[in-house]
Amino acid sequence: MTNLSHLTPIRDHLGRPLQDLRISVMDRCNFRCIYCMPEEKFHSGFNFLNSNERLSFDEIYRLTKLFCDLGIKKIRITGGEPLLRVNLSELIGDLSNIDKIEDIALTTNGVLLKKYAEELKACGLNRITVSLDSIDPDQFKIMTGGRGNLETVLQGINEALLVGFEKVKINAVLKRGTNEDQIIEMVDHFNGQSVIIRFIEYMDVGNLNEWRLDETVGSDEIIKKLSSKWKLEQLDKNYEGETAERFKIVDTETEIGLISSVTKPFCGACTRARLSSDGKLYNCLFASQGKDIRHWIRSGESDDFIRNEIASIWKQRKDRYSELRYSEKGDTTSEKVEMHYIGG
Ligand code: SAM
Ligand code: SF4
Ligand code: SF4
Repeated sequence: MTNLSHLTPIRDHLGRPLQDLRISVMDRCNFRCIYCMPEEKFHSGFNFLNSNERLSFDEIYRLTKLFCDLGIKKIRITGGEPLLRVNLSELIGDLSNIDKIEDIALTTNGVLLKKYAEELKACGLNRITVSLDSIDPDQFKIMTGGRGNLETVLQGINEALLVGFEKVKINAVLKRGTNEDQIIEMVDHFNGQSVIIRFIEYMDVGNLNEWRLDETVGSDEIIKKLSSKWKLEQLDKNYEGETAERFKIVDTETEIGLISSVTKPFCGACTRARLSSDGKLYNCLFASQGKDIRHWIRSGESDDFIRNEIASIWKQRKDRYSELRYSEKGDTTSEKVEMHYIGG
């Protein structure tokens, strides 16, 4: 094998290092969140991947090791709903044994977390993020396209805390006109628990959610709302390139994060590569096309070949969609990969 350690992490065309890998292990989901997989588009006739089209665990493991040779230290497992993938803990156990990996995280809707939290912890998963957009049962049902049961997800979060995951992150997407009252409600509900609530600006990922800018609740508005009830103190970033701005409610341990990809884009710090469930490599959440790595694996290409190709794709990377959207210089009408397929 070529020794690349003196060259890693490799950098893209804009100087950004390759550090994080998001792996979508499943394109299907048991929810139909209105901003991600609206039911009218993702209906029973929707063409999801067949299981043989998805990367196998062995293929994911092999690819992850190659990515690690190029600089990857952090992995996030996502989907669709990753916990729908049978035996996911086994994959996480294998990935956690790769020397260069310092952190493995999972993003889930939490439905199956009560069942799996303990084995995920035992297999070496470091962190969990649960997506939850409302603490009101009826509104939660609306946000999840009629499929979500709030109590099940809350039980999942509790179980994760019980088995020892610390500072579980709760991701909330606000859609104006539907759940923006949750800014105060959710913080009130989780205040005092070992969780970090992160408000994510609703984004124009994919083409099927019919995103409109006026439905995005910007982070300045969120801060203003929160400040009307609590005194907030801004915290330093945990690490260079962290995408969330962090705040703390003064005199409490409650932390709030804001991910402002629409109103304060952070492409300059974007060190993430994304692997879709069927093995395509994407340089950006808003890309139209990915590079088919599965084809190389299944046609018998060597590790050196695949590693070199991945390096070459990253080195050519110029993507900065959100910055271009913000400056109104980008084409926001182009065809974009869907969120359920590439992962958040
Ligand atoms: N199903 C899992 C879940 O919901 O946590 C993992 C995949 S989901 C695609 C990952 C994250 O993307 C979730 O936190 C979700 O809220 C977020 N997301 C999906 N569509 C979005 C959009 N249009 N704008 C902002 N965030 C979005
Ligand atoms: Fe499923 Fe997650 Fe998308 Fe909701 S946000 S539809 S839970 S993939
Ligand atoms: Fe990264 Fe693309 Fe998002 Fe910019 S728009 S932060 S390059 S994923």
